[in-house]
Amino acid sequence: MELQKVESFIRSAFNNQEGFIPLHEPRFLGNEKRYLMETIDTTFVSSTGPFVNKFEEIMAAFTGARYAVAIVNGTAALHLALVLAGVEHGDEVITQPLTFVATANAITHAGGKPVFVDVDRDTMGMSPIALQNFLDANAEIRGDGHSYNKTTGKRIAACLPMHTFGFPLRINEIADICTKYNIPLVEDAAESLGSTVDGRHTGTIGLLGTFSFNGNKTVTCGGGGAIVTNDEVLGKKAKHISTTAKVPHAWEYMHDFVGYNYRMPNLNAALAVAQLEQLPSFLENKRQLAAMYSSFFRDSDILFVDEPSNSVANFWLNTLILPNANAKNEFLRHMNEKGIMCRPIWQLMNRLPMYAQCQTGDLTNAAWLEERVVNIPSSVRV
Ligand SMILES: *Cc1c(COP(=O)(O)O)cnc(C)c1O
Repeated sequence: MELQKVESFIRSAFNNQEGFIPLHEPRFLGNEKRYLMETIDTTFVSSTGPFVNKFEEIMAAFTGARYAVAIVNGTAALHLALVLAGVEHGDEVITQPLTFVATANAITHAGGKPVFVDVDRDTMGMSPIALQNFLDANAEIRGDGHSYNKTTGKRIAACLPMHTFGFPLRINEIADICTKYNIPLVEDAAESLGSTVDGRHTGTIGLLGTFSFNGNKTVTCGGGGAIVTNDEVLGKKAKHISTTAKVPHAWEYMHDFVGYNYRMPNLNAALAVAQLEQLPSFLENKRQLAAMYSSFFRDSDILFVDEPSNSVANFWLNTLILPNANAKNEFLRHMNEKGIMCRPIWQLMNRLPMYAQCQTGDLTNAAWLEERVVNIPSSVRV
């Protein structure tokens, strides 16, 4: 397909004939200013205040999770979720190589070492077949009930798949495999707020799930994150250890765990609440753009990634699969030169210096996608 045509299509979609078109910019169209002013007028800008609690209520209701806990950012939410899942120093955590670096970093922060298994080409998320193959070849359940890696002798303490660009992965199949091997499942749903599988929100199928509200995500509060879970003990513990593990008392300082200062400030939560009020309309707006892209690229040599069956995607970042690496590079060069911000998918984690020594399964699909995938402008259109 002629790149000139793609360029004019994107310009007309955003009704922007000459200016720069970002990949994903935030929209503040609701109560943002009013709620922010309220935090200043009331002095409740920090880690307590009505907006943090309200944020948690909205997140629990929207995702259908029993518990939602406000966290300072998505990386911290992942770190804490892994600690809550039982990851300890020296453990291994199975994840996918095709992800944002925060996924692997959070495993490291929790004391674990990532192990990379392949993704599916259609969902770009962890492949149940790849996970099954890896565990069949490498894992054994020992007397303590936990799975161990036969090659390294280390405990496999968690499995951490990621719903890439908001496209739900085959999470039910992954969950079944994890159950069989008694491996706790944590979902990195940072990118998939609004995405569901068989009617269940991403992040709520595993033991724990995490979200991000960074500036480039579907809704943002500057910086922010959330942990969701249906497990009462873990839900309460998430709140407890994210707030320095302070034992409630009217005035005494008593702490019963090496806690974290990971609670989202009320200032950010004010922004988050205002943004979440607009989430349904943002999702509808993004779905319309995705439908336009989908029909534009139909019958071309460029594949528009659509939502997998039985699932709803939030279309956070619209995604194209180019025919090969050359076509991808040419596409990126052309669009970025013309002021249309497009980006390649991430380099595989196992190519980064700090993760080059990690064990991997066969990564054919991840490498195939790495060569071909780009994201195109996806902001809510006003
Ligand atoms: C954005 C993102 C995170 C991290 O979230 P922050 O809020 O930026 O810390 C983690 N994982 C994935 C896949 C992300 O896209």
